[in-house]
Amino acid sequence: MKMGVLALQGDFAEHIAKLKHLGVETAEVRLPAHLEGLSGLVIPGGESTTIGKLAVDFGLMAPMIQFGEKHAIWGTCAGAIFLSRDARRSQPLLGLMNITVQRNAFGRQVDSFEADLDIEPLKQATNTTAPYHAVFIRAPIIESVSGEAKILSTLPDGRIVAAQQGKLLATSFHPELTSDDRFHRYFLSLANA
Ligand code: GLN
Repeated sequence: MKMGVLALQGDFAEHIAKLKHLGVETAEVRLPAHLEGLSGLVIPGGESTTIGKLAVDFGLMAPMIQFGEKHAIWGTCAGAIFLSRDARRSQPLLGLMNITVQRNAFGRQVDSFEADLDIEPLKQATNTTAPYHAVFIRAPIIESVSGEAKILSTLPDGRIVAAQQGKLLATSFHPELTSDDRFHRYFLSLANA
């Protein structure tokens, strides 16, 4: 399998390193032609407005939407915003996932934190029991999910931080920045399914 990572802006290099560590062939995606032959696509964290503007400039919007109708796509943080249908403001969005997000939902002063999450499907898929340690950096909250989209994980107070819709995944946090590789393995299992 070959996994693409959208390489317009943000921490795509960290995702590529993680996938390579798992023995997966990777490709940096900057143009529509780069989507050919991929089993899935990761959209990294960064700045969702910048990623969206560049995706428009490079003619990637329609090709990525088409790709996501059949293949696995995982958005982390800014990538999750870009996958959403509604970010409560005007910016280019793929609109593939039935989720509404609120950007920078944890405020300006305390804009980064870490939390241990219980994510049952992830534990089952990787046959492990340890909680998942998640890093949030100017993170969005998934305000609501609808239709086919399902909640994958919440903070202890109930706020949604991960959602899944078939082969589409959105996480508010950054699994590419920690050593735990279970989320990448979980995504690979969706891409392979
Ligand atoms: N705050 C950024 C945005 O709204 C996301 C931050 C991140 O990806 N770490 O796009």
